[in-house]
Amino acid sequence: MHVVIIGNGIAGVTAALALRKRRRDWKITLVSGESDAFFSRTALMYVYMGHMRLQDTLPYEPWFWQERRLDRVRGWVVHVDTAAHRLTFDDGRTLAWDKLIVATGSTPNRFGWPGEDLPGVQGLYSLQDLEALERHSVGASRAAVVGGGLIGVELAEMLHSRGMHVTLLARESAYWNNALPTAEAEMVGGVIRAAGIDLRLSTELGAIEAGDHGRAAAVRTGAGERLPAQIVGLTAGVRPSLGAVAGAGLDAGRGLRVNAQLRTSHPDVYACGDCAEIVDDPERPGRVEQLWYTGRMQGEVCGANVAGEAQTYVRGVWFNSAKFFDLEWHTYGQVRAAASTRPPGERTHLWQDAARRRLLRVDTVDGAVVGMNALGLRQRQDVWTRWITEGRSMADILPRLGEANFDPEFSGKALGQAAGALREVQA
Ligand SMILES: Cc1cc2nc3c(=O)[nH]c(=O)nc-3n(C[C@H](O)[C@H](O)[C@H](O)COP(=O)(O)OP(=O)(O)OC[C@H]3O[C@@H](n4cnc5c(N)ncnc54)[C@H](O)[C@@H]3O)c2cc1C
Repeated sequence: MHVVIIGNGIAGVTAALALRKRRRDWKITLVSGESDAFFSRTALMYVYMGHMRLQDTLPYEPWFWQERRLDRVRGWVVHVDTAAHRLTFDDGRTLAWDKLIVATGSTPNRFGWPGEDLPGVQGLYSLQDLEALERHSVGASRAAVVGGGLIGVELAEMLHSRGMHVTLLARESAYWNNALPTAEAEMVGGVIRAAGIDLRLSTELGAIEAGDHGRAAAVRTGAGERLPAQIVGLTAGVRPSLGAVAGAGLDAGRGLRVNAQLRTSHPDVYACGDCAEIVDDPERPGRVEQLWYTGRMQGEVCGANVAGEAQTYVRGVWFNSAKFFDLEWHTYGQVRAAASTRPPGERTHLWQDAARRRLLRVDTVDGAVVGMNALGLRQRQDVWTRWITEGRSMADILPRLGEANFDPEFSGKALGQAAGALREVQA
């Protein structure tokens, strides 16, 4: 039996390891156009900022692949023939498979902006993007980053760390307010500005303009303002990367459609990670999850199912974390961003310190805790997951907030204040 996995990111590599654990004698091949070895995508920013070397982002030593008998093939897949059980690379090579796992990740969005293909304009996703950023940074003094999400802040911080003047353009009226309630979005916006970034809210990109040498020289906003920029970062979200399987006849919507066992419409083809769309998810059918930890969980379930051990993917209590410059954000469970969509029975409770550096929000439905947001207060996932799963009440958790504190030394006092002052608010 030969299993081929397209994609050596967290989802593909986890699937390979889960499979190897269960099937010691199967041949497993990991294919990637991007890199020979699996690296930590989330650490790319630290390489550019000089905190890590690229080799420090490789979770496994070179001997690891040999020891686990995981073959690796470098190349871009351009076609998958499901009838012949064969895939084709862009240089004409082919590779036969008995079972195929598609773990091709995401591709940054582009919206057909004038000038988006100019030299100096790029996204931040791949190793190749990092290399391009290094090239574009030579001699650059001004940059513009377009997009009001997590990668936009990361890219702004990266460019700022090299001494560039950075303008960050976001369509929203408060930073990332399609994911964060207003208080959190405003706090994050404040941190971005305090770091020295020229944050322009309610601002759309109109066009990217070329200079004398044919490379990016400025962005023009939707309102017509011209902002000089030799580097233009496009970070307006990502979409599942489905180029490898286009024309393969597999059922696809936003992503490659899979059931809860991560099997596609073809019995020998599976998908996991950013590229998969889980259709029979009782909570939210048609869900595409583009996160590191869900990629790992899906890879584990996918590898087990390919090995013949029936497993169902259950995400459990949602969680995520990020850093906006030096402000840490943790979220567990469901916190509604837009107050206007809150149904009856759902309540939100908020505490912020006077300096706008720490915040705690807890949402309840019919009195039971369903989610939380914390900024500047590192929280323990196991504790919040338990409280949310058990549907604890506010009265129950408030005296116990200290149990959820990850940093008792640094935030004990603040959490004590939060416990005493968390109040129901409208937004
Ligand atoms: C800068 C950055 C920061 C991030 N920070 C966070 C974070 O803090 N927390 C978090 O949860 N998530 C974060 N993410 C998202 C997270 O990295 C992704 O959700 C995760 O890496 C997806 O894993 P994956 O294995 O599904 O796909 P990927 O990691 O994208 O791997 C897919 C691989 O398949 C290869 N491939 C695709 N098509 C082909 C083809 N046709 N032929 C051959 N190979 C192909 C790709 O080149 C790639 O190597 C971040 C992403 C970026 C870009």
